Amino acid sequence: MTQAKPILWIVIPCYNEEKVLPITAPMFLQKITDLTAAGKISDKSRVLFVNDGSKDKTWSIIETLAQENEHFLGISQSRNRGHQNAVLAGLMEAKDTCDITISIDCDGQDDINAMDQMVDEYLGGCEVVYGVRSKRATDTFFKRFTAEGFYHVMNWMGADIVFNHADYRLISARVLQHFADFKEVNIFLRGMVPLVGFKSTSVYYERAERIAGESHYPLKKMLALAFDGITSLSVKPIRMITGFGCIVSVLGFLGIIWAIVMAALGSVVAGWASTVCIVCFMGGIQLLCLGVIGEYIGKIYMETKARPRYIISDRTWAPYERNYKG
Ligand code: UDP
Ligand code: MG
Repeated sequence: MTQAKPILWIVIPCYNEEKVLPITAPMFLQKITDLTAAGKISDKSRVLFVNDGSKDKTWSIIETLAQENEHFLGISQSRNRGHQNAVLAGLMEAKDTCDITISIDCDGQDDINAMDQMVDEYLGGCEVVYGVRSKRATDTFFKRFTAEGFYHVMNWMGADIVFNHADYRLISARVLQHFADFKEVNIFLRGMVPLVGFKSTSVYYERAERIAGESHYPLKKMLALAFDGITSLSVKPIRMITGFGCIVSVLGFLGIIWAIVMAALGSVVAGWASTVCIVCFMGGIQLLCLGVIGEYIGKIYMETKARPRYIISDRTWAPYERNYKG
């Protein structure tokens, strides 16, 4: 018995990408055509664009693409929710119709030719295939330094993520069915996908420059993503605070003994400077610790609300119909 060829859905988040979409969309379509011709995937495979509440013509471009070619599909989020939520919306939309998904950015930075190898790995039995950047030759020194620092800090903080892997990856529908049970609102896909388990591997590719348009990830957003990732995935910062608290307590205890000894020896001078130093130091530490703990409480607050993680307002196949029956 020959196994049916898998249906692949390429999931692509798009936010204000009117400049780059008309260039990259045909490239994704070509990839589907090539993979189908090579006999690796079913001709029912699709390219799914997720419009993340763009303010430019992105959605109308997607609608036009979908009208012109049945291989293009689009869903639109009711407002901008960020890259992670957009990818999640697309994956959840795809999981009941396809066998495998590949998520990729729409700016052409990630080499789409790595998809061949990803599909090969899937056919060889892997359920998750991470796309990993082998070099960052096209990135500026600053971007490379901050991005690689990001992975080291994340791992050190206890959020176990694949080094130099962003959100270019193949996930099978089977894994996505389980992934759907992860109900958290604060999502950081890179850290969550490994938690699902199943056989996984990595393929390597070189990252190119953006074909057109501008990056939506300046340093500020990257720091926010790192901080979110750490506090969503790991309680290590809280443990570090506990450890730090222990050290400060020991030092404080030694300080008290020292003060008593000095007082007993009668060599005490007006200790204004040291008092102020200690008060400042403790005040700073306490505020910092409260801030970190507060961050977790904030996360708990958002999780207890259990608000929807994405809201889809339109679909290219039928505006309010949930299932795509292609
Ligand atoms: N993106 C999104 N919502 C956002 C910001 C970005 O869907 O709020 C998409 C964007 O269209 C692109 C991908 O996420 O397909 C990655 O963004 P970008 O290329 O700007 O980030 P960089 O590659 O510079 O890290
Ligand atoms: Mg990019």
